[in-house]
Amino acid sequence: MARYTGAVCRLCRREGQKLFLKGERCYSDKCSVGRRAYAPGQHGQGRKKSSEYGLQLRAKQKARRFYGVSESKFLNYFEIAERKAGVTGENLLRILESRLDNFVYRVGFASSRPEARQLVCHGHFEVNGKRVDIPSYLLKAGDVVTVCEKSRSSEKIKAVVEANAGRPVPEWSSVNRDAFEAKVINLPERDAIDAPVEEQLIVEYYSK
Ligand code: SF4
Repeated sequence: MARYTGAVCRLCRREGQKLFLKGERCYSDKCSVGRRAYAPGQHGQGRKKSSEYGLQLRAKQKARRFYGVSESKFLNYFEIAERKAGVTGENLLRILESRLDNFVYRVGFASSRPEARQLVCHGHFEVNGKRVDIPSYLLKAGDVVTVCEKSRSSEKIKAVVEANAGRPVPEWSSVNRDAFEAKVINLPERDAIDAPVEEQLIVEYYSK
């Protein structure tokens, strides 16, 4: 399925929740979720009740949009999560969290996941000393992500790292901003993942 290229704030309004897709604006009073707290479109203010299926569908869509993952990739992650030992929903979340673009955003090397995706695609990052330009690259415990030597002098990268210096980083990572380096200490357990994801509803959605 093609990647969504429309106005991203509509996605947050559709889910009735901030998905933090626009960087700084998301933390300001310009955020559309606060200003227009109803779904976009002609019937946005009329939609209220949801069926069980509707709730499951929305949970899946919200998670997909939060992490910026296509429909087919998301299904692929779900199938991997199902095959792994443990709780499927938690496995799914762990996979989503271990994506390189998510980690780059989480540790403050980008202002939003879409920006992280773009920076990764442009080749600004290395994993364990090797350049990786695939946003969906899955990290493992112990992996070290660094900004490429050449990109460290980029005014844009320096500004982004500085602007996000105050943002808390996940407890499952360690960050050295001066060295433009972040390490995955371990892959997170559910309670260490701060994400508006109702994974049980997603499991129910795919189990039909
Ligand atoms: Fe979503 Fe950010 Fe737009 Fe607010 S500003 S609606 S959080 S993308």
